[in-house]
Order: sequence, then C-alpha cells, then structure tokens
Amino acid sequence: MKNVVSAVCVKCGAEYEATPNVTTCKKCGGILDIKYDYNYIKSQVSPSVMSDRRDNSMWRYKEFLPVEGTSKVPKLRVGWSPFYEEKRLAEQLGIAKLYVKDDGINPTGSLKDRASAMAVVKAEEAGRTTIACSSTGNAASSLAGNAAAAGYETFIFVPERAPKGKVAQLMMFGAHVISVKGSYEDTFRLSAEAIDRWGWYNRNAAINPYLMEGKKTVSLEIAEQLNWKMTDYVAISVGDGCTIGGVWKGFKDLYAAGFIDKLPKIISVQAEGCHPLNRAIEEGKDWYPMEENTLADSIAVGVPRNPDKALNAIRESKGLVINVSDEEILAAMRLLGRTCGVFAEPAGATGTAGVKKGIEKGMIPKDATIVSVVTGSGLKDVNNAIKAAGEPMAIEPDMDILLEAFKKGGILL
Ligand SMILES: *Cc1c(COP(=O)(O)O)cnc(C)c1O
Ligand SMILES: [Zn+2]
Repeated sequence: MKNVVSAVCVKCGAEYEATPNVTTCKKCGGILDIKYDYNYIKSQVSPSVMSDRRDNSMWRYKEFLPVEGTSKVPKLRVGWSPFYEEKRLAEQLGIAKLYVKDDGINPTGSLKDRASAMAVVKAEEAGRTTIACSSTGNAASSLAGNAAAAGYETFIFVPERAPKGKVAQLMMFGAHVISVKGSYEDTFRLSAEAIDRWGWYNRNAAINPYLMEGKKTVSLEIAEQLNWKMTDYVAISVGDGCTIGGVWKGFKDLYAAGFIDKLPKIISVQAEGCHPLNRAIEEGKDWYPMEENTLADSIAVGVPRNPDKALNAIRESKGLVINVSDEEILAAMRLLGRTCGVFAEPAGATGTAGVKKGIEKGMIPKDATIVSVVTGSGLKDVNNAIKAAGEPMAIEPDMDILLEAFKKGGILL
C-alpha cells in the first residue's frame, strides 16, 4: 500500500506496520489510526480526476483507502448514496441550507456496509475465510450480507433486544447467529473471547482500524457531492463512536490532501437516555458508562467502544453535542418521511432530530449550512416506524363507510 505510512496508536503514538491483521496497540491497548502519505495521494489523483470517475461506489476513492492495488473489489455496490438538498425542510427549520445524505439505501440498509465491505477485503488480504463481529444489529447484518456476497462464513453475536428486521437479515444471509441474553456490553465481551479462541477475522469496529477507513467514505462522498465546498456543520448519530470518528477522519484526509479548504464542525447527536460521550463533553471530564435507555437500538451503547476517536472528532472540529429524547427521534422520523421521502430507522433519524433541536435552541446559527446523515433504513425496525407514524384507517369495503372514515379523519374531499 504505497499510500499508507503506518497504523498509529491514538493514545501513545506508537507506530505499527499496517498489516491486514493489525488490531490495537501492543504497548497501551489504544486504538490505531491509519496514517497516509498525502503527498503521494496528491501525486496520484486530483478532485477533478476523481469527479470524472464512473465507479459509483465507495471504491472510487481507492487512493484514500488502505487496500492493496491487487485486492478484489467486492461485488455488492456500497456507497455513493443519494445526497439531497432539502429546501422545504430547511425553510421549515429556519436554516440557510440543509442537505440529507441517505445511507439507508446501501445494500443491507445502513452506513455500516461501508465498514463491512472493507472488512471483507481486509479478511481476504489476511487470508481468512471466516469473519466475526458483535453488533447492536446493523454491523452484523451488513457483515453477513457483504460476506455472503463474497462467499465467506460469518459468526455474529447480537444482544437479544436486536430488532427482528435486522435478525431476519442475518438469518437470510446465512450467518451463524448467536443471540446473547444480555446487554451489548455482554455481547461484545463474549464475541471477543470467541474471536480469540477460534482465530476468526475480527470485524469489531473499535478493534479493527480499517473499518473506520471504510466509514470515512461517507465524508469523501459528501465533499464531492458538494462540489468540494464544505458546509459549516455535519450532524451524525453516535453510539460506539466509530462512525463519527470515521466521518471526521474523511474530512481531515481530504483537507490534508488539499481537496477541501475548510473543515466542518461535527455535531454529535445521542439519545437523552444514553449519551455517555456527549456527557463527557458537557462535563469536560472523561466518559463513564451510562444506562442504555432509548428506542434507538443502534445507538443504545452505554459503554462506547471507540470513545477516543469520537471525543476527538467533536473537540478537534469545535463541534456540538446535542441529546434528543425518544419523542424527538420519532418526530424526526416523521419529518424525514413526510418532508423528504426518506424512511429512517430511529438511529438513522437521530442526527436530524439533533439538527432540529440545535436550531430551535439557538446552538446552530440560522445562516449555517448543514449536512444531516441518515445512517439506516426505516424498514429495519418496522415496530418503531409504526410507533412514529401510526396505524392506517381500517374499514369495511364500503363507500359510505369510507366517506364516514374520511370525515372522521378530517380528510375533506
Ligand atoms: C451503528 C450505527 C450508528 C452509530 O455508529 P457508531 O459507530 O456505533 O457510533 C448510527 N446509526 C445507525 C443506523 C447505526 O447502525
Ligand atoms: Zn499505544
């Protein structure tokens, strides 16, 4: 990998060769970050060359990715998700410009596909054929789908509360699924032991530094879709902290390579019932565990696995932290559905809920430009979608009864 220099520990700065198997720091246990040679990248590609490419997937950014030139590009089309300017929603919220990046359209329905596609490539480079992870749901279903497409075996550990839609995906993609009677924390611990014991390739995002490099492609796309002119803010929902870390890494890479001349402030949105990382910023202290009390299952993470990179993204970008209630998340799901035609799962709409709240509270100035990333599809969690949107009118097949129902529902035709 001519573009990659090393894997650097974010805690102690120790540097390691970026082999496909590299995990955490041998000296201090810290998480590693992939370091690039930006001069080399600049010598290989420019923004205009990039924008002329026909490859409408995350692999259009190969100069910014830690993969061997000889590695096979996976078959499923991950990335290059739609990017919408939402004029009516911006007007409704009273903000200058608002864009929605819909990552729910990825092959398995979430932003996690970007990391899982990377995991499959790195597993192949490492010569492994079995991949494992623990997940609140989406990392699992995306690993299972991307691995199935490439012919790999998967072992997946999920907490028993994972929504049915996500578990159905796992079963459909032929994964070995272990539903753990316990919290996400318990699930993670058991998966780590099993991975050690059987030597599977590890797709646990905080352990494997390459996954964040996959996730960062969402930022590369946002910048390109903005014609390399960055917005003031980018809002994202946060659980383990790998996604927000990846989002920040993507913008920093582009900035270092001279593709953009401004870095956005990152808005970290968490649930009121589970916001250990935002609390650390609010209190100006280190993070400590919190209860997992929210219906947004994908971000119900009381013990975040990637706190260092997440807190760094917020602090370094001079970003904001915003906590939203479950009611505000359900309202944001309705708003995205009804104003934008975008169907988000609760954690997928959480970023937008934070944007709305941030504007209302005056934390985000009215003349700001913002990107809100929708991280997962609403079809994954139909129960909460119905909770947000309600039930349909159910009637007998009779015109008089239909008229009556319309009148009762306030539909005047
Ligand atoms: C995983 C996930 C997140 C949060 O990502 P983290 O890396 O855990 O912070 C947000 N939304 C959805 C839909 C997710 O699946
Ligand atoms: Zn270290």
